[in-house]
Amino acid sequence: MHSSLEDVLSRYWGFTAFRPLQRAAMDAIVSGRDSLVVLPTGGGKSLCFQAPALVRPGVGLVVSPLISLMKDQVDTLVANGVPAAFYNSAMTPDEKSRVAAGIREGRYNLLYVSPERLAGEGSDSFLAMLDRGGAARDSGPPVGFIAIDEAHCISQWGHDFRPEYRQLGALRARFGGVSLHASTATATARVRRDIVAQLALERPLELVGSFDRPNLVYRVLARATLKRQLEDVLARHRGQAGIIYCSSRREVDALAGWLAGNGVRAVPYHAGLDDGERHRHQDAFLQEDADVVVATVAFGMGIDRSDVRFVVHAGAPQSLEHYQQESGRAGRDGLEAECVLIYSGADFLKWRVMLERNGELTDARRTLLREMERYAAGVGCRHRHLVSYFGERYAADDCAACDYCLGELEAVSEPVVVARKILSCVARVGQRFGGGHVANVLCGSDSDQVAARGHQRLSTFGLLKEATVAEVRGYIEQLLAEDLLRQTGDEYPVLALTPAGVDLLKDPGARPDLALARQRRPQKDRVPKRSRGEVESWRDVDRDLFERLRALRLAIARSRGVPPYVIFHDTTLREIARVKPTSVDALRGVYGIGATKAEAFGPQVVAAVVGHG
Ligand code: ADP
Repeated sequence: MHSSLEDVLSRYWGFTAFRPLQRAAMDAIVSGRDSLVVLPTGGGKSLCFQAPALVRPGVGLVVSPLISLMKDQVDTLVANGVPAAFYNSAMTPDEKSRVAAGIREGRYNLLYVSPERLAGEGSDSFLAMLDRGGAARDSGPPVGFIAIDEAHCISQWGHDFRPEYRQLGALRARFGGVSLHASTATATARVRRDIVAQLALERPLELVGSFDRPNLVYRVLARATLKRQLEDVLARHRGQAGIIYCSSRREVDALAGWLAGNGVRAVPYHAGLDDGERHRHQDAFLQEDADVVVATVAFGMGIDRSDVRFVVHAGAPQSLEHYQQESGRAGRDGLEAECVLIYSGADFLKWRVMLERNGELTDARRTLLREMERYAAGVGCRHRHLVSYFGERYAADDCAACDYCLGELEAVSEPVVVARKILSCVARVGQRFGGGHVANVLCGSDSDQVAARGHQRLSTFGLLKEATVAEVRGYIEQLLAEDLLRQTGDEYPVLALTPAGVDLLKDPGARPDLALARQRRPQKDRVPKRSRGEVESWRDVDRDLFERLRALRLAIARSRGVPPYVIFHDTTLREIARVKPTSVDALRGVYGIGATKAEAFGPQVVAAVVGHG
């Protein structure tokens, strides 16, 4: 009767093995036990509820918060040959009646719907349709199981609470005997508990995966000349997809304009643009008409483009949870990608001021900000830091995929001496100036400000003249994170000493553990070391052929009216450009090519390989 999960995996998706926890998650659905799956973005959550729908009887209902998300997933499923559809209020009457007919005929294995469709008022007619579909299939129950995607939306403790998700509390009563399966990328225990309670999950199997993303390379830069820093990142990713997050709409517009003026295919995205424009820009990115989106955090959920090769934050987010979520949009295809945080201490001050103004500056929020700051100014392995923050142990000594482990940071040989020079300079300028001015004085630079204040006559003038201003600013950030300095003031942040800072000035032995680091000075022609993942994933790949295949993918996608990543992931294209299959049969063995895709695109792909020689 029904095929096994292994068969389904290879026939429809072209995958040969399960990712961690996928098998257990699928078994829970097949056996009808409630479950909660927590995996990071890119961990393969969707497959956990998609594959079982092809194995067990009844339609699998998937609750999804966004229409764009539904459409994307369904496009991907259909391209893989899976009978799937979505049903929502944004469809035209024609589309609606077509899908409704399909439901009544029991044609779909998977059906994506909004929460209100299943649990809201007026859901009765929809349920009646499902019943007819069940009868038409003539076997088993109409509904096999219900999967709740992005389940954290049900929790006020999550980062994206959606009131309409609350209605899902009614599912249990409404669908007696149907198992419920929640999935989310939000790792905190509180959100997890909330999901279980709100959905009334019964004895759920809880599967929590590792939150490490080994294919992501993390880098942190103290903000100096932002445009120069961005240029460096972009130079490593010419023609590749990326997201640049900014903290203000004004900055989004300015940077997007600047990039476009420099020949980068960049579009802005923020809540201040009108709906039409926002959609056009998002689509341009998804359809590969644009490479880079410059955005506020309004841009995010529902961005399923899997080949995002870099995510830059031009400003610190308000928590590591946010950072994990936003930077996690890079490299969902499992290939190497880069996450760069460009920050300054002023970012945190801005957050505090903003949260305070909104009456939201609770102790919890302060702690979250501090933790974010500690990450930013931290000197150590970034993977370890992130993973430990989310409550996991990190086993490897060297991640080989962050600025620290790649040797891009250099420990300062006498951190306490440097720290004391900076602290005393802050004291000398009367604790009335910001980081830029203090750094100028320490570096002995004759800025107008310095001259105007007569600060070139201070004993601390030029005390760190062997360092660059950017480096000194970096040290200042680290001292802020170490709680030796603090920032006060609103629009123009001013540096002041903390009690711990005063102690260190009095007693050089007060902080024996203090470490400071700086960005290693660029040597001529130095290219940053590549992560192990990057080296591996390009091994033996014919890059010209890869680019040619990308163009072919784009053409196929255009002709079908779907985004290119729905056709093939980069992982698949790289493997084709490595293996160079010259027959459709040979192509079947390639990662990510199931029966439907081999048949639909095989001849074109093989022709491209053969034509390339
Ligand atoms: P999530 O929803 O957890 O963010 P997705 O379900 O989008 O993750 O999966 C991320 C990527 O990993 C997708 O491109 C998907 O096709 C791929 N993937 C999922 N499971 C497997 C697997 N078992 N083998 C290979 N690739 C997989």
